[in-house]
Amino acid sequence: MSENQINLYMLLRQALAAQIDLGMGEMVIGSSKTDLSPSKLLSAIQTRKISAAEAIAGDSSTPQGMQATIEMTIEPAYDSLESHNAAICTCQLCPLGKTRNKFVYGVGNPNAEVMFVGEGPGAEEDRRGEPFVGRAGQLLDKILAAMQLDRSKVYIANVVKCRPPNNRDPQPEEMNQCMPYLREQIRIIKPKMICALGRIAAQALLNTTTPLGRLRGTWHQFESIPLLVTYHPAALLRFPQYKKDTWADMQIIMARMSNNS
Ligand code: SF4
Repeated sequence: MSENQINLYMLLRQALAAQIDLGMGEMVIGSSKTDLSPSKLLSAIQTRKISAAEAIAGDSSTPQGMQATIEMTIEPAYDSLESHNAAICTCQLCPLGKTRNKFVYGVGNPNAEVMFVGEGPGAEEDRRGEPFVGRAGQLLDKILAAMQLDRSKVYIANVVKCRPPNNRDPQPEEMNQCMPYLREQIRIIKPKMICALGRIAAQALLNTTTPLGRLRGTWHQFESIPLLVTYHPAALLRFPQYKKDTWADMQIIMARMSNNS
């Protein structure tokens, strides 16, 4: 896609997301209604090329002139993590784009069975452009090693790709803007399970305000993919007493991996 197409796609996606936030459940595309639930919308967009004019104006009442003026098609589906990364790495959709040092896309195996998702890059990640490379990342590496895994076998990403200044929590609007990127990563990787690291990632992925303590210990679903919640490694550095619970969570994941093999 050209840069113009990408920018238009982003604008359209924001407009559609706003409609969904406002409670719209379906929209008219062409002569048929399209369910706006995330999975159905993604499926609709993947299987059909929808002209920008159609997406904006709706049905066949779209003026011919407008159709001619905006001859863009929405093609959000990328065939590889590399092409997706290349398309979005200069993103400035939210204020975090202005303050980041490096865009932090993700790292690991594009065919990973398990995907770990944190909330956002910290200072070291922002400096190096790779997720989980600071002290918390080193602890995550140890956890993976205890599971007989490493970064070449899993995929690691964050909800937001740019560092929130002063390590503050990402704001809901920032996560909303960035979430489609994570959703696309997940669509490309097709992990068999997702592990949400920490409250913010878990609540963002599950669209809930339920406390982490009540989310742990049971499987949830993110767009039909089993999702387990555990503590963020940074929390384990501050509260080592949670390591035992974290290991219990990892054993749940290992048991599922074993069942899948
Ligand atoms: S955090 Fe996400 S939405 Fe915001 S500028 Fe970075 S990539 Fe774009």
